[in-house]
Amino acid sequence: MASRHSPDRVPDFVQLLFTDIAGRLKTLEIPGSRWEDVRESGWTVDGAVLLGHGDPAHSDLRLRPDESTRVRRPWCTASGLTVDLVFCDVLTPDGQPFAGDPRAVLRKAVEASEHREQRPVLGVEAEFYLLRPAADGTAARPADSHGYWDLGHDEQVDEVCRDVSQALELMGVTVDGHHHEVCPGQREIVFRHGGALETADRLLLLKHTARSMARRRGLKAVFMPKPLAELYGNALHVHVSLESTRSGATPLFHDASDPHGMSELFRHSLAGVLDHAPALTAIGNPTVNSYKRLVPRSGTPIHRSWARHNRSTAFKVCGDGRVPSSMRLELRSPDPAANPYLLFSGILAAFADGQDRKLELPDPCEDAVAELSDAELALRGIGALPTDLPDALRALGDDPVVRAGLGELATHAAVSSSRADWNAWHRLVTAWETERYAESE
Ligand code: GLU
Ligand code: MG
Repeated sequence: MASRHSPDRVPDFVQLLFTDIAGRLKTLEIPGSRWEDVRESGWTVDGAVLLGHGDPAHSDLRLRPDESTRVRRPWCTASGLTVDLVFCDVLTPDGQPFAGDPRAVLRKAVEASEHREQRPVLGVEAEFYLLRPAADGTAARPADSHGYWDLGHDEQVDEVCRDVSQALELMGVTVDGHHHEVCPGQREIVFRHGGALETADRLLLLKHTARSMARRRGLKAVFMPKPLAELYGNALHVHVSLESTRSGATPLFHDASDPHGMSELFRHSLAGVLDHAPALTAIGNPTVNSYKRLVPRSGTPIHRSWARHNRSTAFKVCGDGRVPSSMRLELRSPDPAANPYLLFSGILAAFADGQDRKLELPDPCEDAVAELSDAELALRGIGALPTDLPDALRALGDDPVVRAGLGELATHAAVSSSRADWNAWHRLVTAWETERYAESE
């Protein structure tokens, strides 16, 4: 791996990056010699690439590189060429942010927070499996047999995480650490929290880097929510807090006089997230496969409750009450299939609504939610998150606040993308069904 990340020398190629509505990285690659021109004038792109469907009204968009994000990819091509990566904003022909560009949606959400004199701070924990493809063509299996936080002896798997960690550092991303997750072959990498836009960009960079580094060592890095039916799924835990734009970076989620260390603003913001949790599920868990992770007793919280100390709830208040900047909300139900730009925008819309309506926060649930009976859940007013994709999409359809947070064009495209996923799945007749019903009907 090369040891420089500062793009001072002209690269051989530059990849102009942007994401579609499903959060997949897209690119146009240009020779390094074209960079100076393209930096100024941008590049034309068809809106169908972002929206996932033909759209004559948005066929002439413009990619405009966001120079502040340009980094040198620390791994060269097989023939030794250098490649720079740069995230782009997508503009309409008259130079306005394109409402179907997930990055533009998040920029707008951050601006809306800043109008409230609040600056969002976001962090993510990215879980993924390292799988070893089988030589005989059967399904890939976990690349090691270790468990939660194990110190393993399988250097190959550790080396992938070290490669990812080192590559990210060389691209200017501070890696806090990586560890083995609960199940064989499952890993988690955490990088330093930051602004909403940079955290979303960095998560996509991490996924791309992990997939590339794993391939170099003959493995696959898999971020799908539930790759293996019998093992835990992959979470994308999202940590979020607000700091003041007015008085330096004063944390707004802390109040030393509160028993949980939470400010009123934090309580209202969390109450907003609880209120909008069904619609947020459509954004945080956007594929058919997402709902195979969100099942009872699977290591994943499926109830709409919060806690200070209990990881079995979907929403957990984290932080040390003595360290104001550490007070934050952790959302534990989202998965890595989520488009981070849209998810962060939805969370900020829910925060703002909770604040505006001064929503009351219900009591925390410090018990293992999965162990509570239906009667106890009902008594405590704890509902469940949507159990399948159509259920979540209906909730998003019924939630004007989250829809407005994403904007109608992005919401429509995100719903269409998820609905296409569901329709394709719904038409399948699986081996399980044939085995179960073929001769029993
Ligand atoms: N992998 C678990 C999930 O899918 C989360 C494990 C953890 O607590 O880090 O929700
Ligand atoms: Mg984890």
